[in-house]
Amino acid sequence: MSRILIVEDEQDLASLLEYNLKQEGFEIDIARTGAAGVSRAKSFKPDLILLDLMLPDIGGTEVARLVREHEGKRIPIIMVTARGEESDRVRGLELGADDYVVKPFSVKELLLRIRNVLRRDGTEPKPASSTGTLSAPDIVLDADRHEVTVKGKPVVLTALEFRLLKTFLERPGRVQTRETLLSDVWGIDAEITTRTVDTHIKRLREKLGPSGDIIETIRGVGYKLSRPE
Ligand code: CA
Repeated sequence: MSRILIVEDEQDLASLLEYNLKQEGFEIDIARTGAAGVSRAKSFKPDLILLDLMLPDIGGTEVARLVREHEGKRIPIIMVTARGEESDRVRGLELGADDYVVKPFSVKELLLRIRNVLRRDGTEPKPASSTGTLSAPDIVLDADRHEVTVKGKPVVLTALEFRLLKTFLERPGRVQTRETLLSDVWGIDAEITTRTVDTHIKRLREKLGPSGDIIETIRGVGYKLSRPE
């Protein structure tokens, strides 16, 4: 059974989420402030955190940063934002949130996203195709062990960056439009903009260092993994 930590100061929303997620078989803990969220993340050891962006004490992006700093195992985070918080939302994704929902959202939509993120993260069963080792010059991705190395050195990627890189490695030389990447990597097509793809590609390239140049930008279309000459 997956454990979900809800960090949310709106009591009604927190209770509604708690009720619905428990119905779905999740184990739930609730924190009403950012500080409580950080400490509950340590003690409750959730498989996923549902993190409100606007909290009374410290903001969601700061909570995400603090949680990331302390955790041993990477915990996936879904940011919960209100409309009009676009810049915070992008910042949240840059900080490594795996997905976000915009208030008001339906419980059904949220459940879909939770299951997507948990599946990507390997907490829930993966599709059979996600096994084995993929590689490009300098880069090796081990899907079973969820590890990436560049020139033999391990690189820590978020679940999303890992999936993004895996998608490229599976399709060398083929142009991937932003829309294709959104539907194949994020697994959903609503709410998230194509700009999100660019943000994550940028992060992924940075983490891969000079070897990241293997992901080429195809202007106005998308990206592709260049084939070795
Ligand atoms: Ca709030």
